[in-house]
Amino acid sequence: MNIRTYAIAMLLTVNSAAATAQDNFSYNDERFADIQMLRYQVHGFDKLSLRQKTLVYYLSEAALCGRDILWDQNGRYNLRIRTMLEAVYTDYAGDRTSDEFKAFSTYLRQCWFGNGIHHHYSSDKFKPAFSEKFLRRALRDVKPGKIRFDVEELMPVIFDPTVMPKRTNQADGQDLILTSAANYYGPGVTQKEAEDFYLAMKQADTDPAHPIMFGMNSRLVKENGTVRERVWRSGGLYGAAIDRVIYWLQKARTVAESDKQAAVIDKLIEFYRTGDLRTFDAYTILWVEDTESMVDFTNGFTESYGDPLGMKASWEGFANFKDMEATRRTEKLSANAQWFEDNSPVDARFKKENCRGITAKVIVAAILGGDLYPSTAIGINLPNSNWVRAEHGSKSVTIGNLTDAYNKAAHGNGFLDEFAIDEPTRTLIDRYGDVCDDLHTDLHECLGHGSGQLLPGVDADSLKAYGSTIEEGRADLFGLYYIADPKLVELGLTPNADAYKSQYYTYLMNGLMTQLVRIEPGADIEEAHMRNRAFVAHWVLAHAQQTMTAPASGADGHVAMPMPPPPAVELVKRDGKTYVRINDYERLRTLFGQLLAEVQRIKSEGDFEAARQLVETYGVKVDPELHNEVLQRYKRLNLAPYKGFINPVYEVQRDASGNITDIRLRYDEPYDRQMLRYSRDYATLPPVND
Ligand code: ZN
Repeated sequence: MNIRTYAIAMLLTVNSAAATAQDNFSYNDERFADIQMLRYQVHGFDKLSLRQKTLVYYLSEAALCGRDILWDQNGRYNLRIRTMLEAVYTDYAGDRTSDEFKAFSTYLRQCWFGNGIHHHYSSDKFKPAFSEKFLRRALRDVKPGKIRFDVEELMPVIFDPTVMPKRTNQADGQDLILTSAANYYGPGVTQKEAEDFYLAMKQADTDPAHPIMFGMNSRLVKENGTVRERVWRSGGLYGAAIDRVIYWLQKARTVAESDKQAAVIDKLIEFYRTGDLRTFDAYTILWVEDTESMVDFTNGFTESYGDPLGMKASWEGFANFKDMEATRRTEKLSANAQWFEDNSPVDARFKKENCRGITAKVIVAAILGGDLYPSTAIGINLPNSNWVRAEHGSKSVTIGNLTDAYNKAAHGNGFLDEFAIDEPTRTLIDRYGDVCDDLHTDLHECLGHGSGQLLPGVDADSLKAYGSTIEEGRADLFGLYYIADPKLVELGLTPNADAYKSQYYTYLMNGLMTQLVRIEPGADIEEAHMRNRAFVAHWVLAHAQQTMTAPASGADGHVAMPMPPPPAVELVKRDGKTYVRINDYERLRTLFGQLLAEVQRIKSEGDFEAARQLVETYGVKVDPELHNEVLQRYKRLNLAPYKGFINPVYEVQRDASGNITDIRLRYDEPYDRQMLRYSRDYATLPPVND
């Protein structure tokens, strides 16, 4: 399962960072339609051994070779349309600055981004803003031999909005297969026929306790009235592409880090050769059990979001390696887990006596391919087979350098200028925002969730619908309380005693205001993480008033009334705009500690009523006036709602006899060049795959 993320979500939780001295590297690259292209840096690649670099390189080639499979899976005309559009794009002899050519270029970029003619997220068909007449004229410029198929049947597919309007239709009551453009089912196959076909297969299963993922790696077709599977494997459908993937996997095997990893690759190749789904399960078991390798990958038919019936898996490729810096960070926290537990402001009865932290698994993406490109996940949790997960576990990782790239791209997009109260606060966030955001996540994941215990006899599900909101709030509060602790400076995890303030500011700004941009006007907050951030922030705001010290009596009996101190945090208005103002960071820490103690009590005692009160009072309702203001201000920033990544270019250096001597990465390839290069170098399938 992919932890999918989209632009808006990221913009709210991230902080921008000061521009560092990375020459010729821009995180923000190109913008078109509703898309912003970004770049990511493969941090730490140069510190890998030559053998590891070579392994990453071979796996990256394997990750790119399946590109055409995904295009064909997304729609039966996609490869033809891409071929035609790219030929026009390169050969067009008319005015390339004209509005029609620009509209054409935008459309092509949208298709590249969607890996087909439908939007990657909404799955709606793109609407070309150029005319059919323009395209027909432009086709006359294309050099002979480039297009070897009939373009006539493609015209309605591109221009008629009623033809294949949706890639994956989920509308209840319709035949989801006949109304979806996705190419997982051949022409004429109905939903009923597909469901019957797989039901029969499941009923015939000889090992129902370990069910294979039926239908995952095939197209279901109707031939002479009979429904049958065409399996994606070497020698089968998509065989030409799969053979190229196998070629690079075999190369990767020669530089595998261990016998264990070599066995993983062997099993995957065996699966690609046979198409046998029990072999696939065996492969995922080997893969999930190989936890020591520095370099890792996913390659193959993985996620089934694109199939309206949720069975057939789209092809994706991904190469990565362990983020050593992040791992060192979380190891430090884990090693001190008991210290954090012992010193927390929580009642002693609710503390764990033997507390062990978790080392978060953070990885560095080295290449994104297939359905992970260019729109991608920032975390991955695989395999998807339920019984494999139950019996052998799963790998759950976050992709640090992609998160980082989102963070960096948020810098300078105007978001902080609009919502942070003043220059000193923005400077604070610029300087420490990234470091503290990562650290807060680490504290939340490695220590927060693992801390504390239930009292004996308390049912873990006592908090019912409020359970996950309370649990996320508890982990967040643990992180907020400790990010300000001198212990973190001592451990070298925060640069100084002031850095934590950046996290306090952005957390409260998000919880009180900016996360509201993800809520429709008039709606309540529903999602657990958003509720938890809201209740933490609003509770603190409500308790921010400082208690006044008792009036001091002078010798003459005259009582001097002291001025009440300002609240620790407040919402203030300036020029009609609302801002979070923090007056007392230290007092905020005390408040976070108090709320942590209370939330831990609620959890440990299973106090449902208190959980309900806390969440309903502070975490659900939205102030409509403030909501409206935030939406207006956000809209004016005109940020692209979707983001995706351009891959780095791998440059292989060889000696005179052809041996690899080094591998270097370049980050300067424009998006269109990358797409045209992929279409040239990784063209693994013919335009028609019926
Ligand atoms: Zn969590």
